[in-house]
Amino acid sequence: MKVVKFGGSSLASGKQIEKVFQIVMSDPERKVVVVSAPGKRYSEDDKVTDLLIECGDLCLSNRDPRKPFDAVIGRYSSIADELGLGAEIIKEIQKDLLDRLNGDKSKPDRFMDRLKASGEDNNAKMVATYFRKRGIEASYVDPKEAGLLVSDEPGNAQVLTESYERLFSLHERPGFLVFPGFFGYSKEGEVFTFSRSGSDITGSILANAMKADLYENFTDVDAVYSVNPNIVNRPKEIKELTYREMRELSYAGFTVLHDEALVPAFRAGIPVHIKNTNNPAAPGTRIVSDRKNTNGPVIGIASDQGFCSIYVSKYLMNREVGFGRKLLGILEDFGLSYEHTPSGIDDVSVILRESQLDSVMEKEIKDRIFAELHADEVRIEHSLALIMVVGEGMRQNVGTMARASKALAKAQVNIEMINQGSSEVSMMFGVKEVDEKRAVQALYEEFFVAVTV
Ligand code: ASP
Repeated sequence: MKVVKFGGSSLASGKQIEKVFQIVMSDPERKVVVVSAPGKRYSEDDKVTDLLIECGDLCLSNRDPRKPFDAVIGRYSSIADELGLGAEIIKEIQKDLLDRLNGDKSKPDRFMDRLKASGEDNNAKMVATYFRKRGIEASYVDPKEAGLLVSDEPGNAQVLTESYERLFSLHERPGFLVFPGFFGYSKEGEVFTFSRSGSDITGSILANAMKADLYENFTDVDAVYSVNPNIVNRPKEIKELTYREMRELSYAGFTVLHDEALVPAFRAGIPVHIKNTNNPAAPGTRIVSDRKNTNGPVIGIASDQGFCSIYVSKYLMNREVGFGRKLLGILEDFGLSYEHTPSGIDDVSVILRESQLDSVMEKEIKDRIFAELHADEVRIEHSLALIMVVGEGMRQNVGTMARASKALAKAQVNIEMINQGSSEVSMMFGVKEVDEKRAVQALYEEFFVAVTV
């Protein structure tokens, strides 16, 4: 049995939904269909979720939400027209949206989650209606009734473990099940959404709960690429990679699947297959527990900008018990999360996303590190890019680091920082943002182009 999830661009128009129908019909194992809200039809188009957020913002500030409201209804109407669904379903959607807009606003973020969730909820109803119109037994599944329980964290809900057992009973339902992505219900029965793009998470939860053989995630690219296609022209496609490799590659250019979506599938050992709705014949990319190593040490190179490092140096730091804990404790007090902590005998750098900081906070952090840790030097460096070179094959291959640093040297890229070893499947390079592209191109050239000719 397969759980199949379709992203927003796969459901953006009637024509796209027809493709979804064909894909589902072409494989009798595809039983559960998880849907996003209608996404963009073309690059300047609006996503229904963004329109719903606009509606909510206007309502909360006592302004007229008519424009985005009409746009949402317009999107569903044009899809219904294309699919020949008639006016009834649009009336229902309109009523549902008005009820949500007129609902309790005393807790704005909960109000907002109810609105956002309507994008997926109404789309699932529409897709199920269309399947039935085509003579297929299909039903919309209400996540509340099915038992998808989540924590009461608006915009960042987490699945509760009891959901898994409850959702298993969906097996008893006949026909195709169309399940809205992106949200669940708290124990008190209120709607809470996952973080943005969270329909991927719903699909993975269902695959785990229903003990599926495969979780298929249909999107609008043929595969996960070995490097960001905005940096390297027509990069190689990855046919298969492990959950760990995918996780290490979760920076820009590899955001095909939501970060949190790997967890439920990984825990149940269910392979995830990324495929293209617009080209279903393409082999796509499989994410699995183990793979045979046939492609050399590196499977992918990811990078991202917008990092800074807090460099702290203190003579004899290595002998001081609790230094690291105290340093990270200070960052915790400021609510900061960090990405990496490369360290030496007398110094340590903490790398974090710089959008979390401002100049006032930076000064306070520095002052506290000097005052509480008696550091000799504290320096904050900005505008760093991180590059992750990833591959399970690195463990068996000698000299991968040497090849990478040589390639960077040849491209005249100064390496600000290196972190290797803690993860057996990746190497991290910190470089100046201005050098990012050149560095990634040089590494791609070294590991993907030079070796195969
Ligand atoms: N529609 C939601 C979003 O745009 C969730 C999703 O598409 O997965 O974030």
